This record gives sequence, C-alpha cells and structure tokens, in this order.
Amino acid sequence: MDKDIKLVIAGNWKMNKTVAEGLDLVQGLKRELANVKEVDIVVCPPFTSLSEISKEIMHSSIRLGAQNMSEHHYGAYTGEVAAGMLKEFLVRYVILGHSERRQFQKESDELVSKKAIAAHAAQIKPIVCVGETLEEREAGNTEKIVERQLKGSLAGITSEQMEETIVAYEPVWAIGTGKTASPEQAQEVHAFIRKKLTFMFSETVAKRVRIQYGGSVKPQNARELMGQADVDGALVGGASLEIRSFSDIIKNSI
Ligand code: PEP
Repeated sequence: MDKDIKLVIAGNWKMNKTVAEGLDLVQGLKRELANVKEVDIVVCPPFTSLSEISKEIMHSSIRLGAQNMSEHHYGAYTGEVAAGMLKEFLVRYVILGHSERRQFQKESDELVSKKAIAAHAAQIKPIVCVGETLEEREAGNTEKIVERQLKGSLAGITSEQMEETIVAYEPVWAIGTGKTASPEQAQEVHAFIRKKLTFMFSETVAKRVRIQYGGSVKPQNARELMGQADVDGALVGGASLEIRSFSDIIKNSI
C-alpha cells in the first residue's frame, strides 16, 4: 500500500490473557510477522504481563503499549500506574481515553489531556481515542462530538508532541459489536479529524499525525479500511487476541 505515512496497527488485549497466554500470542506473532517492516506493530497487554512480554519482544519489530496510565507522576494514588513505571518495561505507546474507560471509569476529555501530557513527558506516544455513540451518530452529531473530544483531549499538547501522538477514531457502536464503519464512513470522519488538527495545530502537523481506525477490524475488512486516504492504521480489540487474525490484519494492510 503506497502511503506517505507508516501505518501503525495496535492490538488492545483489554482484560484478556494470562502471562503464559500472552507469551504464546507474541511468540506466534514474532514468527508470522518477522519480515514485516512496512507497519509499526504494537501489542497492548494488561499491566500484569508487561514485564514478560517486554522481554519476549525485545529483539523483534513488535513494540509494547499499555492500555492506560495515571496523569500523576507518583504518590498516593492506590491502584494507579505512572508513565515512569511503564517506561521501565520499555513501553512506547499508551492507549488513552478508550471508550470503555470513558464509559465505565467516567474519564473526561480533561483527564485524557492530562494523561497525554504526562505520557509525552515520559516519551511515551499516546494513542488518544475519540468516537461517537450510535445515538450521537443517528442524531447527526458525529462531527460535533469528535471535535469536542479532540479539542478537550489534546488541550495543552504542543505541535511537536502532536506529531508523536496517534489519534484513534473508534465509533463506539462499532467496538466489539461486529459492526464496522464502512470504509467511506471511516474516511469521512478521518478527513474531518485531519482538518480539525490543521486548525488546532498546522497543516504540516496534521499531515504527520497517524489516525487509526478502530471498531471490529478483521482480516477481511483491513485492506479496504487501510486503503482510505486518511486511515493510517488500526486499533484492534477482539481480533488482536489470536495469532492468525492479528497477523492477517497486518499482512492484508500492506
Ligand atoms: C477496541 O476496543 O479498541 C476495539 C476496536 O475493539 P474491537 O476490535 O473488538 O471492536
């Protein structure tokens, strides 16, 4: 696939996989994807597996991501994990503001922006998730919602940091539902996001930001989705839990 920007495909394992199961998965991915150079490949296991997975992928082209982090650097925040702690395991990416955290942990745009700033301070690239619910789409509010999330979640990010930030467009109605946005629906919102980033930062920055699509990405729809002009990768949930499906998504995207 001929693009000016390198695709980034990340697997969000969510609350799945023991350490042993995660190791099996990445060992298989290393075998299947050893020759893939065209895509930045990222796996995001639960915190409990970061240490072992980090060692397993050390000499491979697979990079490590986390699924969340604290906005604080250290201190009395029971149950939280700071960016500096993730750094110890060579975590390079962190998913922030996933719709499940927005929904179940009530994470706000303001909190996501604080976390994104803290991630950059530790040289970890945030993957900032935005996306509308079905009701919001049906009410014709997709752009309004996505714009509000972008402005709020990226507040305080410098242009330089923005170039190292990934935006994931994840329509909530497509996550884990088997319903995928059509390539045209995805492209329309991705183009809108890039236009907004142009206003918020600059055209140069907007062109360099990678915008992932997430929501029931599978081997069968990856090629067409990645073929869209403004789709620069994927954030994959369910299909990232198996060697075959995740590696086929990556191979089909090249
Ligand atoms: C996700 O949770 O980020 C996601 C896109 O999930 P799924 O691929 O299962 O829809």
